[in-house]
Amino acid sequence: MQFYWIQCLTTTRRLSRNPRLIEFFQGTLAQITNSEIDTVRIFDTTLRDGEQSPRTSFSYDEKRAIAATLDEMGTHVIEAGFPVNSEAEFKSVSDIASATKTDVCGLARVIDKDVEAALDSGVELVHVFVSTSDVQLADSMHASQQEAVDRAVKSVQRVKDAGAKAMFSPMDATRTDGEFLKEILTAVDEVGVDWVNIPDTCGVATPTRFGDLIDELVSHSDARIDVHTHDDFGLATANAMAGFEAGASQAQVSVNGIGERAGNAAFEEVVMAAESLYNVEMDIDTTRITEVSKLVEKASDIPVPGNKPVVGQNAFSHESGIHAAGVIENTDTFEPGVMTPEMVGAQREFVLGKHTGTHSVRKRLKESGFEPSKQDVRAVTRRIKDYGAKKERVTVDVLTRFARERGISRQDEDEEVRAWWKHQWYLKRVGPFVGRAGFSHERFISSQRSNTDGYRPMFSHPSISTHRMCEVLAVGLVAIVIVGAS
Ligand SMILES: [Zn+2]
Repeated sequence: MQFYWIQCLTTTRRLSRNPRLIEFFQGTLAQITNSEIDTVRIFDTTLRDGEQSPRTSFSYDEKRAIAATLDEMGTHVIEAGFPVNSEAEFKSVSDIASATKTDVCGLARVIDKDVEAALDSGVELVHVFVSTSDVQLADSMHASQQEAVDRAVKSVQRVKDAGAKAMFSPMDATRTDGEFLKEILTAVDEVGVDWVNIPDTCGVATPTRFGDLIDELVSHSDARIDVHTHDDFGLATANAMAGFEAGASQAQVSVNGIGERAGNAAFEEVVMAAESLYNVEMDIDTTRITEVSKLVEKASDIPVPGNKPVVGQNAFSHESGIHAAGVIENTDTFEPGVMTPEMVGAQREFVLGKHTGTHSVRKRLKESGFEPSKQDVRAVTRRIKDYGAKKERVTVDVLTRFARERGISRQDEDEEVRAWWKHQWYLKRVGPFVGRAGFSHERFISSQRSNTDGYRPMFSHPSISTHRMCEVLAVGLVAIVIVGAS
């Protein structure tokens, strides 16, 4: 069911961090202190893993626009693509690398031509990967464990020799034999790998298990640890946060969570969880999250669900009476309190529909310049609930019409305008044949100062005197019909 939203114009929330924390830690979670995170770096892979979403392809201009926005927001690393893939891909990675302030990363298999293409594209970080799970080594890579180790070492060594930073990913790490995982990480450590990325390639990790794995690898490896989590079970963001809690320094994310299959951990979820729940300073401009989400939604052609955290249309919307009434009084009542629409560049919405209560209706009527009594508010609320229950959209025009037909007075409006609207309401009840009579109405309406509600009738407007004639005629006709029928 969809209803038109009405923007709240009056609520404001503070943006500083400490007051939000005080609010948040008043509750039961105040006792829990073992989930602290020191650093959170954001590695965005919207342009690489995100573009690998089925049926998604970004144009050159779209890639540049997404990269520019992420760069301006302060994203720590942007994975711009897979340079060896095509000439067009090489050019976009190369142009993004030279245009952005932040570190840009290019992906490469553990194959010479991939690594050379990545290095030639001018990226600061080359991300080499090789399958390490038995199933992928056997049926995707068709290589032995030793071959995987040798190629990984050779590729990392080449990147380091060229003077770039190297990231190594043991693909499908969460389904890889534990001893072999440590063996290959030790091998790339020895040639000076800068980053080790631990991918949950098929999305099978759970937060506690993934946290334990990262905890073990942080103490095993000299490199900094990065995590890459997939959302097959809806746990991608939780797993990324568990990775941070266990000592990972960076998470790979994509805007709107797009990516292979069910996608990656979402940029907006990881950033806002770190910012608002963990109180970590990342120097990322969160107020542009809604903007970048819309940019990626359009370019990827993957619609953002209404209930998507942070960026969904309903993320800061309220319809039900109890919730809306609470939020009108204090936004913390039925919102997280530690995350506000202003923090992510969104707007709070009070939706009018089947579940609406009087608080929302009164607020919206007043914002539209009406001066309703208690009875007026109750009457209009009843009509809105009935209207919404029929799956009709309660638009601004509909709300205004209900108010008009109720005869609610409006600021800066004279008696004649109200009289005209009351007549409209009356005409509807005395018979449609009169309402559609087509009399010339111009004389009446042209004398009016304003009609600012956007609900201008499409037909001409009857003069008062014509209306009165219509009423007499209509009542007479109805009486004749009733008498005739009986
Ligand atoms: Zn992935």
